[in-house]
Amino acid sequence: MWTRRRAMKQQNTAEMNYQLWSYKILYFYWLLAIIAILGQLVGLIMALYYYPETVRTFIQEKVLVLIIGHLVILLLCEYLVKVKKVYHSWVLITTGTLLTLIIIIVNPAIPGLQVILLLPMAVALIYLEKSKLLFSFSINLIGLTCVHIFFLPLRMATSEYEYLAYYTSLCAGYIIYLAILQRGNEVLEFLYQSNEKEKELIIKNAVIERLSKTDALTELYNHKTFHEYMDYLVEQSKNYEVPLQLAIIDIDNFKCINDTYGHSAGDVVLKRIAATIRELATENDIVARYGGEEFAILFTEKSLQETEQIIENIRRAISSITHKEIQERVVTISVGLSDYHSQMSKYDFFEQTDELLYEAKRSGKNKVVMKR
Ligand code: GH3
Ligand code: MG
Ligand code: MG
Repeated sequence: MWTRRRAMKQQNTAEMNYQLWSYKILYFYWLLAIIAILGQLVGLIMALYYYPETVRTFIQEKVLVLIIGHLVILLLCEYLVKVKKVYHSWVLITTGTLLTLIIIIVNPAIPGLQVILLLPMAVALIYLEKSKLLFSFSINLIGLTCVHIFFLPLRMATSEYEYLAYYTSLCAGYIIYLAILQRGNEVLEFLYQSNEKEKELIIKNAVIERLSKTDALTELYNHKTFHEYMDYLVEQSKNYEVPLQLAIIDIDNFKCINDTYGHSAGDVVLKRIAATIRELATENDIVARYGGEEFAILFTEKSLQETEQIIENIRRAISSITHKEIQERVVTISVGLSDYHSQMSKYDFFEQTDELLYEAKRSGKNKVVMKR
């Protein structure tokens, strides 16, 4: 469970774009500062109207302190984030608390304003991490205590009873934010699990697709896939006159191997022959197990002479392999090979090649018979 949580946390940390979110939070702080300054200017207009004699003090102690205080903190934060590229959460969390404390300090006469310390705590929620929320909660409590101790006008304007209410509000806010965080992490875990399941499904689908296309024993393409490729390649060759050859291969006297050494030994030999064919054909050729001990190869992008060379190599290589499973005997193959011509149907092309294979069998086996 612990490892899983850690993995999730790592994923969360990896996925959160700290630079982007640092910029967004900074943007939010500038908005907060503008709103606070506008509020102070409205207060100034009211002071002008109702208590003109206090305007000078109002400007000096409220408007200027607020503007200078916010500007200094925000410019410092901008410098750290945008110039020094410091994207640590504590820089932004502390900035939020300092901005809020300045608003509280310059407005000692507004009762209850201290609860706006819940705002920087809400910003800390963005990181979706308990430790960051706890950090914000702690510095807010310390900040609230400090301004109470060091700013006399605030202390004078606030009773102990009110202060108790602010602390309990911050604690209640922290508990509610914790619940939001828990819910957020639940959603995150759900997304993480869905993502994992989706990945598993993609892998399973790829495996199923591969299995449905290949033959289990030899891992070559199966009969059905061979015909799909043949349909496509014949069409291409007919339309664009690209070269195409077909070879049908049949193992000689394989029944005898099975009858003498058993089917298991026959399987091993069959597999080895299939691997040899695949190895000697090129990447661009479609090699399939057509059925039983028969194989079919579609050669593309080659002249008939080149294909003839490859098929001869295959025949010769197979006839030189001794198989320990059948007392070091060799096994040979017979091959029919033909070139495609654009007037041919797929059926004719296949039948003609099959006929050449039977000619190879009739005329002594272990040979390639071809038609140009
Ligand atoms: P020919 O030279 O005329 O081709 O003789 P052959 O004995 O190879 O021909 P035939 O078609 O009479 O026999 C093919 C044999 O291949 C029959 C079958 O037992 C065997 N065979 C087909 N598929 C498999 C397989 O998957 N494993 C094994 N071990 N044998 C197979
Ligand atoms: Mg056969
Ligand atoms: Mg055979």
